[in-house]
Amino acid sequence: MTATLFTNAALRGHDRLQDLLVEDGRFRLIGPDLAPQLAAQGRDLARMDVVDLGGRLVSEPFCDTHLHLDYVFTSRKPGAANTSGTLFEGIQRWGETKADLTVDEVKARARRAVAMEMRHGVQYIRTHADVTDPQLTSLRALLELREELADLVTIQIVAFPQEGMYSYPGGAELVEEGLRMGADCVGAIPHYEACREFGERSIHTTVELAARYGRLIDVHCDETDDPNSRFAELLAALAHAEGIGAMTTASHTCSLGSADDSYFFHLTKLLKQARMNFACAPTENLYLQGRQDTFPKRRGITRVKELTDAGINVSLGQDSMQDPWYPLGNGNMMIILDYVLHLAQMMTPAEIDRALDLLTVNGATTLGLREGYGIDEGKPANFVVLDAPDAFGAVYERADVVMSVRAGRTLFTAPDALRTDVPLLADHLRPAPPIAARPFAAAGQFTRA
Ligand SMILES: [Zn+2]
Repeated sequence: MTATLFTNAALRGHDRLQDLLVEDGRFRLIGPDLAPQLAAQGRDLARMDVVDLGGRLVSEPFCDTHLHLDYVFTSRKPGAANTSGTLFEGIQRWGETKADLTVDEVKARARRAVAMEMRHGVQYIRTHADVTDPQLTSLRALLELREELADLVTIQIVAFPQEGMYSYPGGAELVEEGLRMGADCVGAIPHYEACREFGERSIHTTVELAARYGRLIDVHCDETDDPNSRFAELLAALAHAEGIGAMTTASHTCSLGSADDSYFFHLTKLLKQARMNFACAPTENLYLQGRQDTFPKRRGITRVKELTDAGINVSLGQDSMQDPWYPLGNGNMMIILDYVLHLAQMMTPAEIDRALDLLTVNGATTLGLREGYGIDEGKPANFVVLDAPDAFGAVYERADVVMSVRAGRTLFTAPDALRTDVPLLADHLRPAPPIAARPFAAAGQFTRA
C-alpha cells in the first residue's frame, strides 16, 4: 500500500488548514492535523511520505470543457490565415487546408496541447473532432490519444461536423459513424448550416442519435451575434423531452448576448427544467464576434452571469490554441476565467470567491462526471495546488498551478520563481515556502506555525 500525507492544505469551505491522507490513489482521510490521529491508530508513520503544501489552496482539477485538439498549432499553416477574423472564414480556411492531415501528425500536435493544458492544472478535456472528412482522420487520431493518455488526463471526444451535418455531403452519416467508432458525444453546428431548416434538422438528429447510442450531446450552438439564431431553445426542448437535458451542452450561445430580454426570460424557464449545460469560450468569442459591428461593438459572449444567477450550469473552455479561428491560447484556464469575470461583470465578493467553480465543479457537471470527481474521502485523489492561500487570492493573482496530482500520482511540481536580494521585493513579495516532499521519518515533529 502506498500512502502519502499532504499537509497544510487550504481547502475551500474550511477555516483551518487540512491534511489529506492519500492511499492507493484515493483520498482516505481528510482533516486538520492528522498525524497524531494516525499515530494513535497505530499507523506506521515512518513508512509514509509527507508533502508539506505550505498553506496553499488545494482545488479539484480543472476541466476544459471546450477544445479542438485536432486544430491546434495550425494557424501558420500555408493557406490557414484568417484575415477577416470571423468564425466563418475560420471554418473556410480549415476546410481548405485539412486535406493533408494524418493520424500521426494530428496526434503529435494534440499531445503538445494536452501537455500545455496539464501544466496549467487541467485533468479533464472535452475535445471536438471534425468528422466532416470521409477518412475521419481527426477522430481516429483523438480516439487513439484518449486511450494512450487515459492515466494522465480524461479526454471526451465529440463527433463534430464542422462543415455541417446537412450542408456537408454525408455529414449526418459521418457523425453516426463517429459514434460507432467510440466518440463520447454527438456534435452539431446548426447556425452554420445553409438554412434554418437544415439547422433544426441537425438538432433533431443530434438528440435522436444521443438517445439511440446513449451518448452525451455538445452542440456548437448559436455562435453568432444574430439574435434570431435560437437553436438553443430547440435543443433544450428536445433533450428535455427525451429526458437527457442534463447530458446536453450548448457551447458558445453567443446570440444570447444579443437576444432581447423577453426571449431570454421565456428561455430561462425551459433551461432550468431541462438542466442543460452551457460552455462558454470567452477569449475566442470576444475575438471572433462583433465582426459585423462597427461601434458600439458587442462582446459576443453568452449570458454567463444571468445563467449562473438562474441556477443554470456554465463551464468554460479554451476552445483554440493557435488555429484558424484564434491565434493564441496556451491552455491556462486561469486566463480564461479572468476574461469571463470581466466580460460577464461577475465581481461581487461572492462571485470572485466561487469563481473557481466555473473551472472545476461546473466543468465536471458539464462533462457528466459524477461520483469520481471532488475532494472527498473515498474518491480518486485527483487535485491541483494553486500558489495562493485561498480562492480569492487565486483569482486575484491569476495564480499558477504549482502541483497536479492524479490518482495519488504527482504529475508535476513547479519550481519556485522568486529569487531576489532587493529588500523592497523581499519584504513585500516573500515567496511561499517550497512544496517539500520527504519521508515521514525525516520530517520531524508536525509543528505548525
Ligand atoms: Zn468550438
